[in-house]
Amino acid sequence: MTDSAVDLPPAGATAPDLVAASHEERIEARQARHAPWPAALHPLLVEALHARGVERPYSHQADAVERALAGRDVVVVTPTASGKSLCYILPVLDAWLRDPEARSLWLFPTKALAQDQLAALGDIAAHLPPGLRAATFDGDTPPGVRRAVRQAGHIVVTNPEMLHTGVLPHHTGWVRLFQQLRFVVVDELHSYRGVFGSHLANVLRRLRRLCHFYGSDPVVIACSATIANPRQLAERLLERPVDCVDESGAPRAERRLWFWNPPLVDGAMGVRRSATLEARRLTTELVRRRLQTLVFARSRGAVEVLLTYLQRLHPPPAPGRPGPVRGYRSGYLPLERRAIEAGLRDGSVRAVVSTNALELGIDVGRLDAAILLGYPGSVASTWQQLGRAGRRETTSLGVLIATDSPLDQFMVRHPKYLLDTPPESGLIDPDNLLVLGGHVQAAAFELAFAEGERFGTADVGTLLDCLAEDGLLHRSAGRYLWSADAFPAEAISLRTACAGNVVIIDTSTMPDGPGQGPHGQWAGSAGGRPGSHGRVVGEVDQFAAPVLVHDDAVYIHQGAQYHVERLDWEEKRAYIHPITVDYYTVAETRTSVAVLEIDGGPEGGDCRRCHGEVRISRLAAIYKKIRFLTHETIGAGPITVPEQDLHTSAAWLAFDPLALVGLDRAEVETGLTGLGAALHQAACLLCMCDPRDLGRHAELRGAKLPPAIGVPVAPLRPSAVTEPVEQVAGWRPVGERLDAPAAGWPTVYLYDSVPGGVGFAEHLFAEHRALLGAAVELVDGCDCRAGCPSCVGPPAASVDARRSTRALIDIALG
Ligand SMILES: [Zn+2]
Repeated sequence: MTDSAVDLPPAGATAPDLVAASHEERIEARQARHAPWPAALHPLLVEALHARGVERPYSHQADAVERALAGRDVVVVTPTASGKSLCYILPVLDAWLRDPEARSLWLFPTKALAQDQLAALGDIAAHLPPGLRAATFDGDTPPGVRRAVRQAGHIVVTNPEMLHTGVLPHHTGWVRLFQQLRFVVVDELHSYRGVFGSHLANVLRRLRRLCHFYGSDPVVIACSATIANPRQLAERLLERPVDCVDESGAPRAERRLWFWNPPLVDGAMGVRRSATLEARRLTTELVRRRLQTLVFARSRGAVEVLLTYLQRLHPPPAPGRPGPVRGYRSGYLPLERRAIEAGLRDGSVRAVVSTNALELGIDVGRLDAAILLGYPGSVASTWQQLGRAGRRETTSLGVLIATDSPLDQFMVRHPKYLLDTPPESGLIDPDNLLVLGGHVQAAAFELAFAEGERFGTADVGTLLDCLAEDGLLHRSAGRYLWSADAFPAEAISLRTACAGNVVIIDTSTMPDGPGQGPHGQWAGSAGGRPGSHGRVVGEVDQFAAPVLVHDDAVYIHQGAQYHVERLDWEEKRAYIHPITVDYYTVAETRTSVAVLEIDGGPEGGDCRRCHGEVRISRLAAIYKKIRFLTHETIGAGPITVPEQDLHTSAAWLAFDPLALVGLDRAEVETGLTGLGAALHQAACLLCMCDPRDLGRHAELRGAKLPPAIGVPVAPLRPSAVTEPVEQVAGWRPVGERLDAPAAGWPTVYLYDSVPGGVGFAEHLFAEHRALLGAAVELVDGCDCRAGCPSCVGPPAASVDARRSTRALIDIALG
């Protein structure tokens, strides 16, 4: 690919033949900075690296390895593909070479990442004396192998969940690991934010407690993609000082970033050319120029639609052979994914259309170009996705193509905002009582607490007494012993996204053939069909199933179309068969909030504050058939699957319509959306949580507003250019949709995304002054004119979003 540079436009040009980018940013090339091998590193390792062609380490590798060898905890923060893994592989191998009994534990957030790193380790270990035993220990590990790993694994590669339920509670089976543990590796540190990070901090407290018991004190080596506060996050997770290595010594050629707004096709209506079609055009052009390209789309549906377009333009070399353009997303089978990753590395795959599934550190090598079809939703994700492009010798290209969403339009019009805004911080609160309480029980199960013993930095004396009073612990001779029958770790879920999957089965591979769907022979037999052994095409999580594989949907998998005969909701199966049609389907969902019980409030006058139990319901009610390429709607139908409910706790502000006189409807609507956005950000700071841990919902439609403000709502833009969006993100914040049937007062809700809640809502209700105060600071302190993603969200047409939001905050403050 060394001729890529000549194919890119010459320096200074904005490539009018490709796109009229509204802004081009150049990131200068960087020379490699090397350093000598740390003197303390075992000479056999230096030899092994020489044998692999590595003469000298990059400066950050030498720095990190030296610190780790000196026994210091370290966090390494350098770009994708800068050789981070060597920073922990070398100290770990060094320890093993000096003491064959030395052990280490590697934590990765996903299984796929773990596999990658084992492969990298194997490359080096091949040049070392034999005897090193490294193995993964996760849900897929067969029982027989588990035993061997427990007894003899020098390097145990696992994930936080497995450490939490499979290792720590069974520590007596892992004595040698705990006795000889020298290093703990925490890769992808930035993924441990919010509630998940708070859980991990407590899992690490339990780990260190057991290490202390068995007489070891491992050094921690963490790696992270760019976040605003890597050292702070690491120190909060580990509860001790951590060295930060963040100056990359890896070389990089020049990079160009284009911000690209598709041209208007109807100026009066503000309708732009489809971002998907523009992505198709650009990707095709890049592939033609032999530039290996990765396109990130925001949803599974969007991936498949763009992939369909690209595969038509770049068909497989022969029928049945894989083509040069592939898709990548959750729901593909593991073997499919591994093949695509390998194809990217060896160059046989020329372009991949992916969701953010490829954003994490899976090794696919470095690419020539990364195209973002829509702003990914955070500054950190944007840089991580763009960072996938960046070769050492040749210029690489990153392109952000804006869709017509207000957020995308803001980003593309204010490139400096994206370039200058620091990536989001990772916040955690390990001492959140609902998180801490469960782990203290798990810790007590593992090892009795001594009176006065701290749990990490937390004073848990009162908590232990309460647990003793509840009969879970037995207090005796200055110790708290676990005395219940329960296995406490099992009751704690580190992540909430553990909903069951729907399996997708191709009925055309069944003995009795396709077309057995809703009206077929076995229609209505709730248990699926007897003898149904069709090929499993893929999976989809329970939250997305009503949207992607409802009855009569067109399900697209690697660009191949299938008709969904039937979604068997009870059995969690979707039956499909191949078809060829010129449309795809898009489901529309509606979210609503129902208050089940008020636990606090109402307080206040014109603005009433409450907190309590709520039910958040998401319903996929109808689907549309959208014609390929023109994106016109050519049909629609109902979806009949049950509503999906989230029972959780919420805090909300409801405004007396009489207090809103003086604001017109558009201002109330904009203000309510802006208030939700500002409160959401303020709440994350107040609760030390991640934006994903909280949902927000604003309700206006149907609200009884005084006649004085009954200005008709501006009509929505025509839907001629419907992007293939899929309005699903698990229980992520629903964003700015104001579409719930509300009764009465305009209301803004903030709710815990975790079923049952972890106490954020109650905290926000109690601290409403601080919450509103922080929102005021955000709104007043922002440098924008009428609203931006840092304060109240991008401004709506003709309404000053900051002013409207401020007006509502003033009412709330009374
Ligand atoms: Zn702003």
